Amino acid sequence: MPLKARALSGRQDVILKRLCQYEVPGGGQCRDASCEELHVWELEPSDQDTAQFLAGAWPFSEAEIIGALRQARKTQGNKGPSSLETRVAESYGRLIGQRQEVKSA
Ligand SMILES: [Zn+2]
Repeated sequence: MPLKARALSGRQDVILKRLCQYEVPGGGQCRDASCEELHVWELEPSDQDTAQFLAGAWPFSEAEIIGALRQARKTQGNKGPSSLETRVAESYGRLIGQRQEVKSA
């Protein structure tokens, strides 16, 4: 099952909550902290899910990937324009960079 679909399965809130109408179909980005509707960023898989998924394809351990994803979340912020794809790309670059540093040391 693709990563995003897997993260959504078993999520009751996806069924029970209404998508924020400002974002879907509005296409905007809701910045109302008190808004109780479901937002696009909330539908993303957790770092744990993502790391589990990527560990099958990347030459890094789940723990290493989680660490890099958390780091990417910190530099890019939790909400906002940073997408899962961007965080994954940044994490990969970070991990590869670390490995090369170790090798050349
Ligand atoms: Zn909203």
